[in-house]
Amino acid sequence: MQSLSSVASSARASATLAIDSQFKKMRADGIDVVGFGAGEPDFNTPDHITQAAIRALMDGKTKYTAASGLAELKQAVCYRMKEDLGLDYTAENVCIASGAKHNVFLALQALINVGDEIILPAPYWVSYIEMIRLAGGYPVVIKTTEETGFKMTVEQFKESITHRTKCLILNNPSNPTGMLYSEAELREIAEICVKHNIYVIADEIYYTLVYDDKPFTSFASLGEEIKNLTVLINGVSKSYAMTGWRIGYSLANKEITGVMSRYVSHSTGAPATFAQWGAVEALTGPQDAVYEMKAAFEQRRNYLVERMNQIEGVSCLMPEGAFYVMMNLKDLMGKQLYGVTVDGADTFAELFLQHGLVCVVPGTSFAAPQYVRWSYATSMENIKAGLDRLEKFLKEGK
Ligand code: PMP
Ligand code: GLU
Repeated sequence: MQSLSSVASSARASATLAIDSQFKKMRADGIDVVGFGAGEPDFNTPDHITQAAIRALMDGKTKYTAASGLAELKQAVCYRMKEDLGLDYTAENVCIASGAKHNVFLALQALINVGDEIILPAPYWVSYIEMIRLAGGYPVVIKTTEETGFKMTVEQFKESITHRTKCLILNNPSNPTGMLYSEAELREIAEICVKHNIYVIADEIYYTLVYDDKPFTSFASLGEEIKNLTVLINGVSKSYAMTGWRIGYSLANKEITGVMSRYVSHSTGAPATFAQWGAVEALTGPQDAVYEMKAAFEQRRNYLVERMNQIEGVSCLMPEGAFYVMMNLKDLMGKQLYGVTVDGADTFAELFLQHGLVCVVPGTSFAAPQYVRWSYATSMENIKAGLDRLEKFLKEGK
């Protein structure tokens, strides 16, 4: 057999998706496992959105749209960005893609030349590092800790810049840590980016999920110069419980958007037309469901964090947004559980699944090997069961 592409073959499978499939398979096999794996809202897509997609199908809206998306959806994106974040964009700045994941991929393909350096604060979402490599870029990872709330400091950022730095990926609020950068922190980062002419892929897909009434600042709102360097990533998956619809969008200057649009025209083309019509309704219709879901997530977060911190051997910070909690395993390191020495998140997650029947994501693939991630985008009943099982698992495994 001829050799396969070395770049493509080097990509590892997405750990979050792999864990989710393992969980779903165990459930299908009749095993009573509780899942905190993939970050996917447990709610159904609100009815008015689904109805709009059904109407589109019945009205024969089943043909191709422009590769970079339906004009009405681009307009809806601009409307929502103005309403929620005060941003001024027009349709030429918008690229619709098959999920925000695809928008990040396209943005990296549009920006990177082989050997360019991309700064990536860790813990990071699994897919960024693989997508950087697939684009031929070199990831420069900045390690952050709980002491700085898992946020990179300005000093760390400055130190990581070289003459090869092309781009920064900034996910705010963050998957997997749930942490939120304040406006003041973002301003400092933006100033440095402008000074060094560094592009920013600002992934704000969790922007509606910010708790305790904290304000959210979009990176692109910090001035014209930084807006011009920013590729803003967003989508409907998390805010509207539409993960399976595969609609994401990005906003950037016309040149970047043009490159992304041409790239998409030779790969996937636009996402399904009726799904795009559903997204139009999501962005322009009533927003009540967004706030109802957010309130439910906030309640779940409060319960999960409070109880987790009462359990001996584990701890976590209070996340400010998204729907993830990073559980710190440092006090368990080197100890025995079920006759096995806990040497990191992989071992812990495997033992927890096997003996506790709870599925969490080991932090290894987020560059956080002493943490496991819990997604609380699941019912309160599951959260209670998961924590009961954690208590029992730790007690009985000693
Ligand atoms: N960015 C982040 C930080 C995410 O957690 C996700 C979740 N999958 C995505 C982008 C992609 O979302 P989607 O492709 O479902 O729009
Ligand atoms: N972003 C979610 C997660 O991190 C969904 C899975 C994925 O696309 O990676 O769990």
